[in-house]
Amino acid sequence: MRQNPNRKQNSPKKQWVFGFLGGLSRLPGGDGESRVHLLGGKGAHLMEMCKLNLPVPPGLVISTEACISYYENQKKLPQNLTAQVAQALAGVEKATGKKFGDAGNPLLVSVRSGARVSMPGMMDTVLNLGLNDQTIFGLIKASHNERFAYDCYRRFIQMYSSVVLGIDHHEFEQILDHHKLSANAARDTDLTAAHLKAVILDYKKVVKQKSGREFPQSAQDQLWGAVKAVFDSWHNNRAKTYRKIHGIPEEWGTAVTVQAMVFGNLGDDCATGVAFTRNPSTGEKLLYGEYLINAQGEDVVAGIRTPQPILKSGSGGAGHTSSAANQDHPLAKSKKTLQAKGFSMQESMPKVFAELQRLQQKLERHYRDMQDIEFTIERGKLYLLQTRSGKRTAAASIKIAVDMVKEKLISQKEAVLRVDPQSLDQLLHPRLDPDAKKELVGRGLPASPGAASGILVFSADEAEDLTHRGQDVILARQETSPEDIHGMHSAKGIITTRGGMTSHAAVVARGMGKPCIVGASSLKIDYASATLSGNGVILRKGDVITMDGASGEVMRGSIPMLRPEMTADFATLMRWADGARYMKIRANADTPEDARAARKFGAEGIGLCRTEHMFFDTSRIAAMREMILAEGPEQRKKALAKLLPLQKSDFEGIAKEMQGLPITIRLLDPPLHEFLPHADAEIEDVARSSGIPAHLLRERVHNLREINPMLGLRGCRLGIVYPEIYAMQVRAILEAGIEVKKKTGKSPQFEIMVPLISGEQEFSFLKRMILQTADAVFKEKNTKIPYIIGTMIELPRAALRAGQIALEGCEFFSFGTNDLTQTAMGLSRDDAGSFLPEYEKYRLFAKDPFVSLDQEGVGELVQVAVDRGRRASADLKIGICGEHGGEPQSVEFFHRSGLDYVSCSPYRVPIARLAAAHAAIRHKSIRATKTKPKARIKSRAGNVRVMKKKTGAKKQPSLRRAA
Ligand code: PEP
Ligand code: MG
Repeated sequence: MRQNPNRKQNSPKKQWVFGFLGGLSRLPGGDGESRVHLLGGKGAHLMEMCKLNLPVPPGLVISTEACISYYENQKKLPQNLTAQVAQALAGVEKATGKKFGDAGNPLLVSVRSGARVSMPGMMDTVLNLGLNDQTIFGLIKASHNERFAYDCYRRFIQMYSSVVLGIDHHEFEQILDHHKLSANAARDTDLTAAHLKAVILDYKKVVKQKSGREFPQSAQDQLWGAVKAVFDSWHNNRAKTYRKIHGIPEEWGTAVTVQAMVFGNLGDDCATGVAFTRNPSTGEKLLYGEYLINAQGEDVVAGIRTPQPILKSGSGGAGHTSSAANQDHPLAKSKKTLQAKGFSMQESMPKVFAELQRLQQKLERHYRDMQDIEFTIERGKLYLLQTRSGKRTAAASIKIAVDMVKEKLISQKEAVLRVDPQSLDQLLHPRLDPDAKKELVGRGLPASPGAASGILVFSADEAEDLTHRGQDVILARQETSPEDIHGMHSAKGIITTRGGMTSHAAVVARGMGKPCIVGASSLKIDYASATLSGNGVILRKGDVITMDGASGEVMRGSIPMLRPEMTADFATLMRWADGARYMKIRANADTPEDARAARKFGAEGIGLCRTEHMFFDTSRIAAMREMILAEGPEQRKKALAKLLPLQKSDFEGIAKEMQGLPITIRLLDPPLHEFLPHADAEIEDVARSSGIPAHLLRERVHNLREINPMLGLRGCRLGIVYPEIYAMQVRAILEAGIEVKKKTGKSPQFEIMVPLISGEQEFSFLKRMILQTADAVFKEKNTKIPYIIGTMIELPRAALRAGQIALEGCEFFSFGTNDLTQTAMGLSRDDAGSFLPEYEKYRLFAKDPFVSLDQEGVGELVQVAVDRGRRASADLKIGICGEHGGEPQSVEFFHRSGLDYVSCSPYRVPIARLAAAHAAIRHKSIRATKTKPKARIKSRAGNVRVMKKKTGAKKQPSLRRAA
């Protein structure tokens, strides 16, 4: 862990521990955010709930700074920590009237992790701490419930031994199963106190055998063992993976919360549960969640028992169908029976339910956001154990944000910031074609929306392995645990046969935006035979299945899917986002169909039309090959004449779709080898259509082969070596424009883009050629249309020469950050996949630089080019069309750099629109803050260009060659 230079040195006076003991608790200074940094989300919110006089069991928080100090000092706890904990614990003892480690009336505590942002299930927790062979009698006396007390002790030994002593929890599960079998008990709850005593004896034997020591009996030893274990869990593998996936810095550390236990497992007037203030799947404004009568907190999230909804059926609750809820139920029925029959908390505990309703509304109004609340009911009294901002699907986050503006809880800008741009990806997921035939295998709870098809696997390792080999997989488990995080991340979708809507699988998948089905109890998973069966069908590992996370259905085979449609709330939020952003958003689109999709997603132009993509089609590739393999300009012109009408009609189609919005068309760019015929049959084909003998063609293919094609005959070099290719393309663009103008009365805004230049010489050479071709076309057609000429900046030298390039009359730059990353970092974009995972593993790169822009290096080149280009030509239009144009962090960087637009694939346009709005709300653009450019700059050619005053980022340069 790196040293934080801003942190004060540890001093004997430093406060590491903060107690929360009801309404009089003293909150540490600073705002809510700095409190979260210091105390972790859980600790900070517990303290805040105390201040609000909410029913929170008393406790203390050990700060994240103590964790950071622990790692900086070779895992030594900071000075004074023990004394500060003892003092705070004394306050908890006073508040509860119990004593920690006291055999007569013992205080039991929970010890929980809590980072700045919630990392559900990734770090460790210990419950019932303080129990030993003496205090157990105090607990029996206080609870009047021997069975309960031994159950707590059994749970404690199991949890502590696995979390703190590192003993595999299966060891304990085996013992428990063995005792259940010999006692003929179907469930844990059927074991009597005598059975549990025997279980405890066996547990202790395992501890002695595996750790070489007796189970620790001192409550103090137990406490410090647990605190250190929580600190240590910051660096366990699943926490590291989670941090990597979610971009959480390693330096943050975790806080530790030590809190007096309250018990949801004391009897049928006790329960534990999780509640969301709004539906986290749909965003609907209704208390939503699940509870379990006579259970302890972890039972709900662990998925061991399937919980019941809080709201009664028909009131829009958890989505379970509570069959029993519609029947009359005699009040005399026990709570257990009610729950067993599927009764909601609203029905079985109406008073506590009303209290929960009141408190959840108070919390939501206080935090002005949807809350995820953990609660326990001990003998009819409600306690809140945690509140945090609830994880939600993208659809829910949009609905909640828009609703909260209507409810006047938040502003429109806050609403925009509430929706993570990347999460929109979930909304852009396909859904099943409703008309498609489906063979249903089973059904579960719809935990996270979206549909997915893939190969069925049963372990996280298999999921990861097959994904690395390019397969789509669906991971099916009885239940997931944090150990499965890497497999869940790899899989296209997740199915579990156990657990509820707040189980580990459901919460984690929702956060990842993956389709997920949980509690599919009609399905049977047999790990030994690697099968999943249901509805009379047996599916084996490797079979293809389809799942629908919105309906909870699991189906055999692959099922056709439809592209998603956007809701009215989505449109509202995007309207607010569009009002907030500076940058324009364009799309990379190569065909009229792409252009239509781009417009539907709100693209304001085409930032990159890759002309070569028009020729990969089987019906067109032959003409393209003929052109490439032609011997000399005459043969090439003949082949080009076949390509001209095809390109022209595509450009016309695109222009029609874009209705006057700008369209950047890139002249041919890729290494020609991408088009070469390889198989004999393909060469024969070209020979037939071109009339060139096959043996000559074969020789030509051989001659055209390059050792390093990415740095070979590609980009503007093609136009220099074979000018007739670019001349044909320019003619096709302008003739298409003239045609469109004739038909519609309006000229398209074409922008002709030269790829892969390294400096001004190449640009001015090709610009001359473009102008000559344009003059010829306009003369022939006896009319003119406006267009502009610009270039891609995708080589480091071009970025450095940006000022001179602009002076050559280059009217726009578009950063090709795919190639710029490749050439600046010396990383082959085609081969980096084989070694980049190691770079990420060793944290040499925070992220794959082809996904998220390397802001420090490649970003500096962008910045240099923007500065130099605009200093030479204030009106220079600048955009980016590499893959980074749809990646939120990169979009933010481009905003700060003062770019006019980003261009990305059509389906990422909404992500870019929202990301650009986030950037504009959070950061100024240098376009808005930069000083005036130099008044006059002399160009290489000796012309004097009069520089205009800097204009706002929103202003588009005029089309200077207008007819
Ligand atoms: C780029 O290099 O960023 C770019 C957009 O071009 P291409 O991916 O086609 O090389
Ligand atoms: Mg490129």
